[in-house]
Amino acid sequence: MKFKIVTLGCKVNAYESTVIKEKMLKEGFIESDNNVDIVIVNTCSVTNVADSKCLKMVRRLKREDPNAIFVVCGCSVQNDKTKFENLDIDVLLGNTNKSKIVDLIKEEINNKHLIDKVKNDMQHEEFETMEIDKFSNVRAFVKIQDGCNNYCSYCIIPYLRGNLRCKDYDEVINESKNLVKNGHKEIVLTGIHTGSYKSKGKDIVDVIWGLSEINGLERIRLSSIEITEINNDKFYDLLKRCDKLCNHLHIPLQAGSNEILKRMNRKYDLDYYFDVINKIRSIRPDISISTDVIVGHPYETEELFNTTIDTCEKIRFSKIHVFPYSKREGTVASKMPEHVKEEDKKIRSNKLIQVSTELEKEYYDKFIGNKLGVLIEEEKNGKYIGHTSNMLKLCLDGKYNINEIYDVVIKGEFYDA
Ligand code: SF4
Repeated sequence: MKFKIVTLGCKVNAYESTVIKEKMLKEGFIESDNNVDIVIVNTCSVTNVADSKCLKMVRRLKREDPNAIFVVCGCSVQNDKTKFENLDIDVLLGNTNKSKIVDLIKEEINNKHLIDKVKNDMQHEEFETMEIDKFSNVRAFVKIQDGCNNYCSYCIIPYLRGNLRCKDYDEVINESKNLVKNGHKEIVLTGIHTGSYKSKGKDIVDVIWGLSEINGLERIRLSSIEITEINNDKFYDLLKRCDKLCNHLHIPLQAGSNEILKRMNRKYDLDYYFDVINKIRSIRPDISISTDVIVGHPYETEELFNTTIDTCEKIRFSKIHVFPYSKREGTVASKMPEHVKEEDKKIRSNKLIQVSTELEKEYYDKFIGNKLGVLIEEEKNGKYIGHTSNMLKLCLDGKYNINEIYDVVIKGEFYDA
């Protein structure tokens, strides 16, 4: 039987879909793009737009393969499975049992009735054991943690991904060793709240030191980390002494004013954020610091938005991922008054994206003439595309081997999407 997996959303979803794919292949199913017998969709629900995209995707895939067995899982189902119930889906899963999809498909093939394994209560979960042998991209994502207990006012994730839980430390190390044995040179540690990792008394810094001992592993990257989880001597020591730790940190700011940070129930204020950024830069002056900012959160006035712009310009981020606030039913912020008009959100988002473009160019230009290591990830239209340790995305002429790191002099050939 032939199958295909369609993944929407974050790095954790991409990792979980790889787990599902490997299990399907091990059971003799054949991966294919069309005329398949089984369609698996791993959904996202981080915003309203994400939800509607998932529904549209399922409907489209249904038109393409109307007779296939349909498995729909992930955050959008966890959020509201009723949206999918009239779409003739065969297996419905939320954010648990993804590693058991093969067994559920077999059960469905035998019994031909709807299998609904969506859990209502996600607050008492154990970490679902899962690992991969090889990742589809050159840079391998490794999920080490799931869930979140922070409940930021705007965020639906803790309700959908559930309580904080972590992969066993030894499993993380063994999985990573196996990935390196299978050729990966860079590992991207990912999770819902990666920095909160804890297993057998080990934290995220211990994981990175543990991985740094793996021969053949050249780079360790953190997908994202909260500012409150790195403000300690153990992490600063890691920054100082661990060469394999990439020269890039993605540290969500979310808002650039203390008033909105408070409304968001974020666990820091601007002074704290500035202070930690300065400490990081005192250790690694050239480090790339990217961030996430939500524009148009309830109570955000024009003045407070301008404060956010000022804050971002003061910090000189290398890139800002801009998200217009999306009202998520069930979150604290959805019940707040003072919501920002959609057109104002759009105007503000465009302004902040413009600031990000200028800051990104400023950061890239700093490295022109420097020699940096580039991990070649793919060849496209005769050009070779790859990233440096500090996340510069390059598009190179010449001849290179995929999955090799080359020292190149930066001449400004930046990848222009
Ligand atoms: S830390 Fe906040 S924004 Fe991040 S997943 Fe948890 S609740 Fe959501």
